[in-house]
Amino acid sequence: MKGLIFSVKRYSVHDGPGIRVTFFMKGCPLACKWCHNPEGISPLPENMERVSRIGAGEIRRQEKIGKYYQIEDVLRILEKESIFIGQSGGGITFSGGEPLFQPDFLLEALKACRAGGYHTAVDTSAYSPARDFRAIIPYTNLFLFDIKHLDDSRHFEFTGVSNAGIIENFDTLLQEGADIYARIPVIPGFNDSQDHLRRLKAFLNDRKSSSLKMICLLPYHRPGSSKYGKLGIPLEMNGLKPPSEKRMNELKEYFSDLGIRVKTGG
Ligand code: SF4
Repeated sequence: MKGLIFSVKRYSVHDGPGIRVTFFMKGCPLACKWCHNPEGISPLPENMERVSRIGAGEIRRQEKIGKYYQIEDVLRILEKESIFIGQSGGGITFSGGEPLFQPDFLLEALKACRAGGYHTAVDTSAYSPARDFRAIIPYTNLFLFDIKHLDDSRHFEFTGVSNAGIIENFDTLLQEGADIYARIPVIPGFNDSQDHLRRLKAFLNDRKSSSLKMICLLPYHRPGSSKYGKLGIPLEMNGLKPPSEKRMNELKEYFSDLGIRVKTGG
């Protein structure tokens, strides 16, 4: 079985505990207006133009985005990094795009990694059929679960999909006692109003349990706008300013009294 992956990041320290290898899987059913990995959205391999400058000149070449990996390839990469992974309490993270957009490959890869003794994490928008989502729970040590907006119409407007199934999948994880880091991308003007922050806090408070290990507040950062141009995708939130460090610290403080560990960044 093979999966389409557009990037492999070794020595990753923001995608779960310890030092990890993160596989970025291609294909995502969402179209978030702020997405900083637009090359992960299409489920097919594609070409992107790379420009390298040499003195006053430049070289343009087409780079292929997306390569097929067998599960054995994934294990081989992990094996090479196994000393760092083992010593740091790390593991493997499947991210994207949306890893559940390739549900069969993801499930088999998670099974194989767990059989190999690796800690597994899935970084997900959780916009996935409940059946696929439930299938991976027994093989996933940690879910990095994005919560973007609690208002369905606002969620739809900025991501192109409803949040109803996402919230159901969140509640399924809680019922199953899975470990979760709730990841909230902080997107100025989209989800950082006082009213929405209050709703988020109440939502998390209602769901407080031993499953909810951490709240991660992820500051918006500008996507490489050149990536958008090279892929021919319009960047709608061009010009949006990232939240300041002070603002992120205020938000951290705001969520801290829930009694759940809060951190800014992955
Ligand atoms: S869910 Fe993630 S990968 Fe998919 S469009 Fe949104 S930000 Fe991009």
